[in-house]
Amino acid sequence: MQGIANFLSMVPNPMILVNEQGVMVLANDHTCSLFGYAPGELVGRPVTALMPERYRETHVKHFEAHSRSPHERDMGIGMELMACRADGSEFAVEISLNRYAGMDGVYTLASVRLIADREATEIRIRHLNRVLAMQGRINALIVRVHDRDELFREACRIAVEAGAFGMAWIGLLDADTQEIRVAASFGERAREYLEGIELEAPFQRGPAGVSIREGRPVWIQDYQHSPLTEPWHKRSAQFGWNSLAVLPLHRKRVPIGAMVLYAGEIGAFDEEEERLLVEMANNLSFAMDHVENERMLKHLAQYDALTSLANRTRFLRRVTRHLRNAVSGGHKLAVLELDLERFTNINDSLGRPAGDAVLKQVAKWLTEEVGDASLLARLDADHFAVLIPAIEKEGDAALLVERWMKALHEHAFGVEGDTFRIHAKVGISMYPEDGVNAETLVKNAKAALKQAKASRNRYLFHTPKMTEMMAGKFVLENQLRQALERHEFVLHYQPKVNMVSGELTGAEALIRWNDPRTGLVPPDRFIPMLEETGLIYEVGHWALDRAIEGHLRWRRAGLQAGRIAVNVSPLQLRNRHFIGDIERAIGDDPEAARGLEFEITESMVMEDLEYSIATLRKIRAMGITIALDDFGTGFSSLSYLSKLPLDTLKIDRSFVIDLTDAPERLAQVSAIINLAHSMHLKVVAEGVETADQARMVRMLGSDEMQGFLLSKALPSEVFEAKFLGSTGVVCLTSLLAPAERRADFLPQA
Ligand code: C2E
Ligand code: CA
Ligand code: CA
Repeated sequence: MQGIANFLSMVPNPMILVNEQGVMVLANDHTCSLFGYAPGELVGRPVTALMPERYRETHVKHFEAHSRSPHERDMGIGMELMACRADGSEFAVEISLNRYAGMDGVYTLASVRLIADREATEIRIRHLNRVLAMQGRINALIVRVHDRDELFREACRIAVEAGAFGMAWIGLLDADTQEIRVAASFGERAREYLEGIELEAPFQRGPAGVSIREGRPVWIQDYQHSPLTEPWHKRSAQFGWNSLAVLPLHRKRVPIGAMVLYAGEIGAFDEEEERLLVEMANNLSFAMDHVENERMLKHLAQYDALTSLANRTRFLRRVTRHLRNAVSGGHKLAVLELDLERFTNINDSLGRPAGDAVLKQVAKWLTEEVGDASLLARLDADHFAVLIPAIEKEGDAALLVERWMKALHEHAFGVEGDTFRIHAKVGISMYPEDGVNAETLVKNAKAALKQAKASRNRYLFHTPKMTEMMAGKFVLENQLRQALERHEFVLHYQPKVNMVSGELTGAEALIRWNDPRTGLVPPDRFIPMLEETGLIYEVGHWALDRAIEGHLRWRRAGLQAGRIAVNVSPLQLRNRHFIGDIERAIGDDPEAARGLEFEITESMVMEDLEYSIATLRKIRAMGITIALDDFGTGFSSLSYLSKLPLDTLKIDRSFVIDLTDAPERLAQVSAIINLAHSMHLKVVAEGVETADQARMVRMLGSDEMQGFLLSKALPSEVFEAKFLGSTGVVCLTSLLAPAERRADFLPQA
């Protein structure tokens, strides 16, 4: 020990020998004078006496860790540190460490070099400069950026590029889950680092969590030894992070997130730098506020403050956007302007606040009814607008308006204990008829509204033709109601025969309307209207009664009519009374059920598969068979076929036509028939018009056929006379013979 003491006294630099307990055992005179102590005064004191108070704790831990497993890399390397004189004044030094193995243990030999004032200032300036550079660029961001995410991304980039931090990220506190979500990050390995962390980190207890919760910055000068960063010690060591700054971000004075900066050196932040970083974070908060406010302002400029619906400006933009789709999609579009009737009365009698409450309720009701707030707007006072973005066929707009008006009137609005009904008048304009741009459409809807208000009509189209058409519709609806009351509907029967024997297997009952003014009207002209008005339920029931009646009559007369197939509308299948009504219709007579088949379509079943299956099972349990109609035109998904309780599959007419016109369909139809047979379904080919088609479907294995080749649908008596007569067998040979030799089963047109 004496040898080293002599050596130290001779070197021209301040040198200190520290034992494993961190106590100075030697300090040469240069050291004592540099630190302001008398010669020999330092021996026996802890080495921490030479450093500013705030670094002491960190140093002790560092020292302990170091002596347990001395880092070779720390040895001999010059470290820039702040030192502290006896009088408390601070100055910068550079320290190099060496290990010294003495007889009685391992010592650390520290060589201290005073960093000249200029140098020290340079270091400080270097540190401050980077923060200042950061600040400048972040302030510039405020002017440039209008989007919060971009603001965060850029701030992190600046921290790394200008601030020379190794990595930066911004976390936001999720108000619901209380989790911190990374909103942006920057740095060479930032993503890699953060991805790992999300899995393992209890965020709320880490520095970011503390910072956000307590709304204060957190400084970690020595990452590896701070208890706050414990869960990440290993990970950050791998990445080389030794200091950390967490700066809370505020919105309206509430901390909502934090910016986190990583530096490679220990003790990266001094007081001045800390102050500047906090200021920078405040600026960032301000920028965030600014961006959010801007967003709010934009929102206010486009939305109605009372109802939060779009205002006129925004509505016009939306109409324009949807118009583009209408043009490219080739469909129609409708713009509605609604006026609440007697709204001024409400305002006058109940007061403005009550009026406002009503408007809000109407907005809410409209949103629910229309199902999409982005299609609505409040144009002014009590005028609302609705956009129907895609209209398939004419009249759909009117039907929707009808439905909405009815629902509106049925809805009870309540203000201050009073409930009342609201009526509205509506003006409708349609693209392309009434305009090809948003402004014109809105203007014309308004014009139509004005006319509606002056008339007795609840709503009017801008184009009179549309109104007329609607009027026509209502005339038709009325006529159909009357037709039902006056028994103007009739059932015609179209026979089906077995493809091998020619035997009659049954008939499809097809409805006709015997309009006294125009004669027989085919169902395609009125079934859609019956569906729209719900009248189909009654008419369907009527058809069922007639079919049962017919079957039982023929049966009593000893005639073999087979099962009568009745078409069932989706509205019937979905009706909760349907099962009960069928039960009443067939009564106690098992023959009635055995004489019936129901024809349903794919799409009708698919709407609510579970419910449909349950209903069909009940129907089948009564003894009625089920046929799947128009097969191939709907979903054509064979996979669900096995799930349905079916007896018969009717291959749609379009397939039958294709058999001779598009032979590639052959394989497809053949597969369908085979599949149906494997599921024990009977196959009926629909719409067979020619002998060629009949031969083809017979060859492919179809069990039965139906179509004009055999007969069109016939009035009950004609059907009876022609097909239920003596044998009930059709001569297939003559039917399937080439056209010139064909017998007289062809429809008598
Ligand atoms: P659908 O169920 O597919 O009925 C078959 C339609 O094809 C009938 O038209 C029939 O006359 C026609 N048809 C039969 N063979 C041929 C043929 O060889 N060539 C051609 N071109 N057509 C043929 P209809 O009678 O005009 O019925 C049309 C649709 O109306 C029916 O289609 C059915 O969906 C519906 N419908 C008819 N009656 C009723 C009913 O009582 N209730 C319900 N809900 N719908 C019905
Ligand atoms: Ca049918
Ligand atoms: Ca059909």
